[in-house]
Amino acid sequence: MRIFFLDQSGKPGGAELCLIDIAKPYRDNALIGLFADGPFRILLQQNNIPVEVLATQAIQVRKESSLVQGLKSLGQLAPLIIKVIKKAREYDLIYANTQKALVVGALASFFSRRPLVYHLHDILSTEHFSQTNLRIAINLANRFASLVIANSEASKTAFMQAGGRRDIIEVVYNGFDPKNYQTDEFDINLLRQKLELQGKFVVGHFSRLAPWKGQHILIDALAKCPQEVTAILVGDALFGEQDYVKQLHQQVAELGLENRVKFLGFRSDIPQLMATCDLVAHTSTAPEPFGRVIVEAMLCGKPIVAAKAGGVMELVEHGFNGFLVTPGEPQELAQAITTCLQETEITATIADNARTTASRRFDVAIINQQIAQLLSQIMSA
Ligand code: UDP
Repeated sequence: MRIFFLDQSGKPGGAELCLIDIAKPYRDNALIGLFADGPFRILLQQNNIPVEVLATQAIQVRKESSLVQGLKSLGQLAPLIIKVIKKAREYDLIYANTQKALVVGALASFFSRRPLVYHLHDILSTEHFSQTNLRIAINLANRFASLVIANSEASKTAFMQAGGRRDIIEVVYNGFDPKNYQTDEFDINLLRQKLELQGKFVVGHFSRLAPWKGQHILIDALAKCPQEVTAILVGDALFGEQDYVKQLHQQVAELGLENRVKFLGFRSDIPQLMATCDLVAHTSTAPEPFGRVIVEAMLCGKPIVAAKAGGVMELVEHGFNGFLVTPGEPQELAQAITTCLQETEITATIADNARTTASRRFDVAIINQQIAQLLSQIMSA
């Protein structure tokens, strides 16, 4: 099957990292068309996945953009749409991995008469999107997509609540290769030394820096934890959230936590960094559609404390394979961190359970089989 994947981003967010795993089995007969250049292109090339940057300038529409802003960008989109339509004719199927990819992919599907699959990595609600963008996504998916793949039941429910068709949507979780999350004890010690983390209780936060990812909640919680608790914040502002980055640094200074918080920026050695942690914290203040970092922490055998909302509740069973806390509540988070610090035996059992359940539920080989089956059903229809 020849697949033309489309993604709007040049930066490797969760949706893009997931796409690498989905596209890999098709790489001899596939192309990923990007609407922006950046480190994601390089990552695809490193994975030997054919990639082409299709747009010459960035598209000026954001999740929260209004109709007027959206319409203004149409002129800018025209050359890209023409290019995508032409290319689509060389493939059997168009696979849109993001919202803007859905817009372009829907038009390309109509003109090239190729079926369209939309991989929904978002909770389509007004917490994350403007009304206009929400309506556009739902209408295009309903009208043009043969299949919508939702990354969680939470994303599927939001899609249907916003008016999305029930008969075209299926849930497929993100897949992971458990082998990638096994790390060597020697390397972990080395990294701990390098980051000056020896003797500390390390809480890791792995996410792009953005207000709704709630790094500020962890910093507030840290001030309420015993002195030996230290945090590493891994990730960068991928989509222009520079003001938030400044705020975080200010907050750290105001709370006098300079020696207990390290900003490590965007990193590609997530499994190794997770392995240096005693606990991984997920602190999103709005419902997380899926939460790759949670599964990754589980696969690393690390206890996870996560914000109880959205797709997270499908990943974590409180007290069995992780801890759930109320989103946006630093006091409760501090309590959970302190419990992990003190109750080492129970916490280790929970982390063990997490590794076992995550390896079984999110194995990339099984997830890719599910996707292959869905795609072949579309082709035979
Ligand atoms: N990630 C990364 N480097 C970083 C920070 C995060 O590679 O410095 C990865 C992380 O391991 C995860 C993804 O980015 O696989 C984020 O996915 P998630 O579903 O947690 O959030 P999203 O970015 O999709 O909102």
